[in-house]
Amino acid sequence: MQINNYNDELIKAMSLHAINYCERLFYLEEVEGIELADESVYAGRRLHEELKPEDVGEDGEWSEVYVSSESLGLTGKADCIKRRDGALIPYEHKRGRAKRIGEKPVPWEADAVQVAAYAMLIEEETGEIIPEGRIRYHADNVTVRVPIDDQARFAVNAAIERGRELRSLPERPPVSPNDRLCIRCSLAPVCLPEEERLAEDEDWQPVRLFPPDREVKTVHVTDPGARITRSGETLKIVPLDESPVSFPINEVGALVIHGFAQATTQAIHMCAYNGIPVHWISGGGRFIAALAADSGSVQRRLLQYKALSDENFKLKLAVSLAFAKVGGQMRYILRATRESGKRDPSFMEKIDEIRSSLKRIPSVKSPDSLRGYEGTASRAYFEAVRYLVSKNVDDSMRPDGRSRRPPRDRFNALLSFGYSLVYQAVMQAILNVGLDPSIGFFHTPRSSAHPLVMDVMELYRLTLWDMPLIGSVNRSQWDTATDFDIAGKRVWLSREGKKKAIRLFEARLDETWKHPVVGYSLSYSRLIELEIRLLEKEWSGKPGLFGRMRIR
Ligand code: SF4
Repeated sequence: MQINNYNDELIKAMSLHAINYCERLFYLEEVEGIELADESVYAGRRLHEELKPEDVGEDGEWSEVYVSSESLGLTGKADCIKRRDGALIPYEHKRGRAKRIGEKPVPWEADAVQVAAYAMLIEEETGEIIPEGRIRYHADNVTVRVPIDDQARFAVNAAIERGRELRSLPERPPVSPNDRLCIRCSLAPVCLPEEERLAEDEDWQPVRLFPPDREVKTVHVTDPGARITRSGETLKIVPLDESPVSFPINEVGALVIHGFAQATTQAIHMCAYNGIPVHWISGGGRFIAALAADSGSVQRRLLQYKALSDENFKLKLAVSLAFAKVGGQMRYILRATRESGKRDPSFMEKIDEIRSSLKRIPSVKSPDSLRGYEGTASRAYFEAVRYLVSKNVDDSMRPDGRSRRPPRDRFNALLSFGYSLVYQAVMQAILNVGLDPSIGFFHTPRSSAHPLVMDVMELYRLTLWDMPLIGSVNRSQWDTATDFDIAGKRVWLSREGKKKAIRLFEARLDETWKHPVVGYSLSYSRLIELEIRLLEKEWSGKPGLFGRMRIR
């Protein structure tokens, strides 16, 4: 995704197309500066690339002509201008089909306004009268003509006027009442129209317009002596003792450097230029920093700051979050011990503690008391986790409560390392969405960790790491000797152990899960992003869907 902070005075002619398609789309593109290059956008670009060899180079034909006019308040790039019968004619190419009135092909209104805008710009530039524009619809192979008459000029001026009004709005316009438009809209994964409709009408059955899987991979570098370099348009990892591996840059979603591997400036520049975040995690598994090439939309961040300055609003979000987290933990440990005969009185004591905290969370009156109940439930959960480890597992793999800095047993070393991977994945999703990770609503900014990342990861520690980790321990997937480095009472993962943990985590991110509220399935990596977008809707859209995912 590319985010531009384009907000010039002139309006792009192609944005007039957006105004006529959906005013919210115009706002997302022009005011919030969001461009999401989905398959249809790429296909449109390919179409224009493919057209070039045939359509340029002849006398009286020009392709990709930039035109702008201060007096019209408009700018744009016409696909092609041709001289026909003495007159200049702008041509616009569209991948889809023309609209039909009976059998007759006619232009779609949004396309007609766009080509008329180019015609008016060319008139301004050349002083020549432009009698018509033409639109080539490639799916049904027809060209339709758009007369540049008073009606067309009026439609362009009205769209420019409406664009100016929309630019001055502090918030996004509502979603389009025509849900068929959303199915073809490239910004549907950002706009989440179906989820807005669900927030308004709980009987609405959302169609999934959100991509289900990640299209790019996260590259982890765990060899402390590795070099990360650029080779053409690929990222090349050169480990000390293994063969180099290369990743085409368009297949990389993030680069995670564990320990002291060295990245060249050229490699970092390439990541930054392509909007790929780089994350650094210490050899001990602590998240150090992230490089994000783009700060995101200023306007969206201002809305975030404003909303998260309200203490009551923050407490409401924090209650939803803690209730979802503690409820999930309780359901999981009850489910995992249902048939195993592991529920002795000591285990049931932990359950009672969690249940009692869960009951009180919805009515807390302050963040401190919420932290108190959440902390009590969390402690009881980690004490109960050892009941989930199968009796066939080596004793050295059993946890004894939760120990963090440093981890004091193998299980805790795995927990800590896994949580740093969860942190990185949540941080990446927050940066992708364009929010500020340092402004949260539950965690306080006491450490170097970003509060919003710490907040959102509370929803994912269990599903992204605790559950796959406990499964892997019960399948005896860990080598108690080679996967760990032990120094006195401190236990860390060895390089081999980290590689295994990363494989387990990345496989989990690709697993799909059906979200119980929106009702469709997504990979876990996409679920994180969806939840952050639902969080943003709490202050800039229809609220009520954040923090409602539940494991059964
Ligand atoms: S998804 Fe629908 S409501 Fe949202 S911008 Fe696109 S067309 Fe408009």
